[in-house]
Amino acid sequence: MDNVIRLALQKSGRLSDDSRKLIKECGIKFNNGMGKLKSSATNFPIEFLFLRDDDIPGYVADGVADIGIVGENVLLEAKPDVELSKRLGFSKCRLSLAIPKEKEYSDASYFEGKRVATSYPEILKDYFKSKGVNASIHEISGSVEIAPGIGLADGVCDIVSSGSTLFTNGLKEVEEVIKSEAVMIANKGLSAEKRKLLEQILFRIDTVLSARNYKYILLNAPNESIEEIKAYLPGVNSPTVMPLAKEGWSSLHSVIQEDRFWEVIEKIKAAGAEGVLVLPIEKMIQ
Ligand code: ATP
Ligand code: ZN
Repeated sequence: MDNVIRLALQKSGRLSDDSRKLIKECGIKFNNGMGKLKSSATNFPIEFLFLRDDDIPGYVADGVADIGIVGENVLLEAKPDVELSKRLGFSKCRLSLAIPKEKEYSDASYFEGKRVATSYPEILKDYFKSKGVNASIHEISGSVEIAPGIGLADGVCDIVSSGSTLFTNGLKEVEEVIKSEAVMIANKGLSAEKRKLLEQILFRIDTVLSARNYKYILLNAPNESIEEIKAYLPGVNSPTVMPLAKEGWSSLHSVIQEDRFWEVIEKIKAAGAEGVLVLPIEKMIQ
């Protein structure tokens, strides 16, 4: 079926809520698929397959699914022949090496001749190779962090987000091996029709992700401060400035990047801005 694109999503786990949320924010309506293997949208030619995350890259490479959302870590481990279409900015984590808290550590040569437990043997093999370290890699599929405690390994290489799981198992993080976030992948041989549907979806995703990164900002300022404030708020093009009824004052409207927010707010307040309002943006087309 060339007029419908098949998207593989994680059935349940750390990617599933945010993946579903992103697709819904793209205006695509579908049944959540709880307990189902397949579902389709009511207002876009798309079908969903709900799978284990590890199976997604292979299904996309084989063309069982056309596109999929998966953690970059799974992709780097399995190295399937697929296209990486877009980084999605959620499920951010890192794959790190960790060792018992009390051990002294200087650099990666610590792992020479040591046993390291991981669910990511390929990524770890590449990493040790790049560092010129010979270590023995023990592949285990779950609860990697308990391996040193039960004498199975000298260290672990595992997914970390806050580090609290490592800490409660008496481990400390010593090297970051890779960073990861959710990504959209696509089959390399998509038909022209499916490629067009993918482009449409990616455009909508851009619109949603930009809106998440930006806030709308409104403020009042004395006219003599406007130039300085404008310099801090480049907006998408340039800010809108409108005179206020109050003599010598203007209102300024612009957009501001979420991650620069606190830095900019302090500067514009110091420059004389008053009555600052910051609002979420629902969609943003650039
Ligand atoms: P499945 O049952 O589908 O095989 P899983 O147990 O292998 O699921 P999850 O734990 O749901 O996988 O993790 C899915 C993905 O989410 C990981 O591959 C990784 O990219 C990301 N991830 C894992 N742990 C975290 C975390 N603590 N914080 C943020 N993202 C994470
Ligand atoms: Zn998995």
